[in-house]
Amino acid sequence: MEIKKGIPVSPGVVIAAAVALDAEEYRISAARVTERQVPEELESLASAFDASLADIQTLQDATARQLGQDIASIFDFHHGVLSQSHLREQVASLITDRQYNAAYAAREVLRGYQRRFLNMEDALLRERVRDIRDIERRLLRHLCGRPAEDLAHLTERTILVAHDLTPSQSARLSQTHVVGVAMDGGGLTSHTAIVVRSMGIPAVMGLKDVSTGISPGDMIILDGTKGLVILRPDEEMLTEYRVEEQRLQVVVSGLVELRDKPADTQDGVHISLRANIEFPHEARVCRDKGAAGIGLYRTEFLYLRSEAEPTEAEHYEAYRQVVKDMGNRPVTIRTLDLGADKYTRAQALDPERNPFLGLRSIRYCLQNLDMFKVQLRAILRASAEGDVRLMFPLICSLMELRQAKMALGDAIEDLEETGVPFRRDLPVGIMVETPAAALQIRELLSEVDFVSIGTNDLIQYTLAVDRNNERVASLYTASHPAVLHLLKDIVRQAARARVPCSLCGEMAGEPTYVLFLLGIGLRRFSMAPSDIPEIKKIIRSTTIAHAERVAKRALSFDTDRQVSNYLRDEVRKIAPESI
Ligand code: PEP
Ligand code: MG
Repeated sequence: MEIKKGIPVSPGVVIAAAVALDAEEYRISAARVTERQVPEELESLASAFDASLADIQTLQDATARQLGQDIASIFDFHHGVLSQSHLREQVASLITDRQYNAAYAAREVLRGYQRRFLNMEDALLRERVRDIRDIERRLLRHLCGRPAEDLAHLTERTILVAHDLTPSQSARLSQTHVVGVAMDGGGLTSHTAIVVRSMGIPAVMGLKDVSTGISPGDMIILDGTKGLVILRPDEEMLTEYRVEEQRLQVVVSGLVELRDKPADTQDGVHISLRANIEFPHEARVCRDKGAAGIGLYRTEFLYLRSEAEPTEAEHYEAYRQVVKDMGNRPVTIRTLDLGADKYTRAQALDPERNPFLGLRSIRYCLQNLDMFKVQLRAILRASAEGDVRLMFPLICSLMELRQAKMALGDAIEDLEETGVPFRRDLPVGIMVETPAAALQIRELLSEVDFVSIGTNDLIQYTLAVDRNNERVASLYTASHPAVLHLLKDIVRQAARARVPCSLCGEMAGEPTYVLFLLGIGLRRFSMAPSDIPEIKKIIRSTTIAHAERVAKRALSFDTDRQVSNYLRDEVRKIAPESI
């Protein structure tokens, strides 16, 4: 038995057998082989290298015939790398010395090469990372067979163990028998975490090396509430966790009763609790959890679920379904937030060095206006069906906001020409998720109908901590005094300008921060639907006067430790089972 501690990102307990998935969607068993199997693995490796070299030769010959020898020489690099004896020796020594299987050893060595190429000064050399990735894929194809879309063909409940998983890979999990996710990388607010949480799949991330410690078929207990993964548990542990599984079911059913009760504080102040969704079918879940509307619809998942760009009709159909399912409750549709960790196929082929600081979100849309306007027209059309609001993400300046509004103006003109109905007075807002927007909030407020604070990004940019990187996960915290002061200022400025302000980062659904947020004046929250009952329960147990005292005290501390200890203690006093 082995117990590993990671970051709890999606609550719940599951007990099932493991399956391992490589980032390129190859199911790689990271198993170590026995000493007797080593010669067999070395033989597979040699055949994979030979077969890959043969592939390259065939490709090169065909290209030379069709396009000429010069163009065909682009494959010389692949040929050179695959024929290099040093590369083969490195992989072979991982097999003989560490007894890794051939696929895992090959992946490890080639990932090392990719990291080194990515760090090269010379842009042309950096480009080579794509070729190395291609070589890796080719070798894996010969070692493992077909890529494992066959996750979809799993027939039994399974816990997926992966080094890393992209949001688009996780978006496909709902069609499989995967009941839990354990990952080496990732953090609480990574988009992969957000997606698995929205699917209700318990998950633990930031486990650093869980993918190397398991063999396919190993039994695992995954405790997404405490952030534990127990490999090959003994009987005693299994019994303990079966009891825990049942206890959690009782807690969850207790919260269901809150669904139809209002989110009012004890002194009668109403708080709007809306939901964040990634997929249209979730709208119905939101109603079941008592959501007052959709505060954040992350529309980029339309792109991440399929290879092709969605058409205007597909966008429209998805939005119409959400608006219809929400009845007359408001639906805030955020425009595309592609890039960073949520990349399309084209973006994946052209990786950026610092993707969270790169061409993501509204920046990507403003450079791809045709694609952007397809979405804007669809949102406008959906606005004729209900209470739709439109929100631009990652706004850093007034110019950016104005350019986005100009694109919206163009989309309006397109619709006017064709006579398609839409709402002229569609409310337009922005996400405040960069320090630049937070510091220039006054000016931004004067040009929008509402704002929503995106703390997932605001924290990472304020503290300079990558939200996806498990190595710095302990530095990523909403309790940092700089974050608290920034939030207080944004909420206060919005109240002064009488512009509605909500908060839709994961912080909104964390019991620790409810009192603080109420105390600084926040009255609109948007969170994962599953978090709503718990947050409602805390709101119904406090008064605004109490929350204001808590917020004032929290703002007086100098360190995040003091802040989080204090806030947790305060919540524990009114809702002990929430913390
Ligand atoms: C945020 O940044 O807080 C947010 C809600 O947007 P996302 O998590 O999709 O980046
Ligand atoms: Mg964001």
